[in-house]
Amino acid sequence: MILAHTSVDVHRALTVSPHPIGFVPTMGALHDGHASLFDVARASCATVVASIFVNALQFDQQSDLERYPRPLERDLEICREHGVDIVYVPDHETMYPSDFSTVVSVGRLGRILEGAHRPGHFDGVATVVTKLLSAVRPDVAYFGQKDLQQVAVIERLNSDLDLGVEIRTEPTVRDDDGLALSSRNVRLSETARRQALAIPRALEFARDTARSVGASPTEVSRSMYEQLTASGLKVDYAIVLDADSFQESDSITDRSVALIAATVDGVRLIDNCFLRADH
Ligand code: AMP
Repeated sequence: MILAHTSVDVHRALTVSPHPIGFVPTMGALHDGHASLFDVARASCATVVASIFVNALQFDQQSDLERYPRPLERDLEICREHGVDIVYVPDHETMYPSDFSTVVSVGRLGRILEGAHRPGHFDGVATVVTKLLSAVRPDVAYFGQKDLQQVAVIERLNSDLDLGVEIRTEPTVRDDDGLALSSRNVRLSETARRQALAIPRALEFARDTARSVGASPTEVSRSMYEQLTASGLKVDYAIVLDADSFQESDSITDRSVALIAATVDGVRLIDNCFLRADH
């Protein structure tokens, strides 16, 4: 496994690497959700590249950035175990030298939901992903459905900027109790973790409700919201949207997705599921 610290190192390693090149960008603190992306990439690409970079630009809270876990040695071990060929680990100054001044901003998609609650978040995501895709120039890039709005933002910039990367979205990996794996879960106390299970429960409930004849997206959204607040969570949004337009629709369709962002004991969690699919 090759460790690259600059985009020049990445280019050098890739000139002798066979295509297709699969790429998995991450912020580290790797878990089985990230590993599942490495495995899918490994199964269909000749070269697998991962990046580990805690992108300060996408954090709206300095304390969240400071508390973000950075277990680099363990992360590299996980990359090695899952067959990653090249790991790109730039530092902040390499990515953003003092004269760095470009911002990639995708418009409405970047301003709603997560974008509304975390101002500047998606500009940070779009900017770093554009840089990473430009450095690695993969054939395929893999992202988790857990961050569905993020994937929509990336699809938008990939299309708008003619980057020509195939964007793949892979299902959310969950713990046995249903909680979506997240690098932030380590910050949950035992009690908070139990409380956080209200999120997958509300999504399951949304699915069940959506199956009953005549249920509207608004009704499903309202009952998710009520369930979550009744469980003591601070809800930023609990909403059913069309996954392609990220707009509300009048009725539930195969593209209807329920999205939740809620805070438990100071830890903000997001999750989602399609209402008519098993993920
Ligand atoms: P992060 O390190 O949080 O920036 O995530 C890196 C990638 O892993 C993103 O594409 C995430 O959507 C994806 N990811 C994070 N958690 C999960 C999960 N539980 N299941 C599947 N993919 C995930």
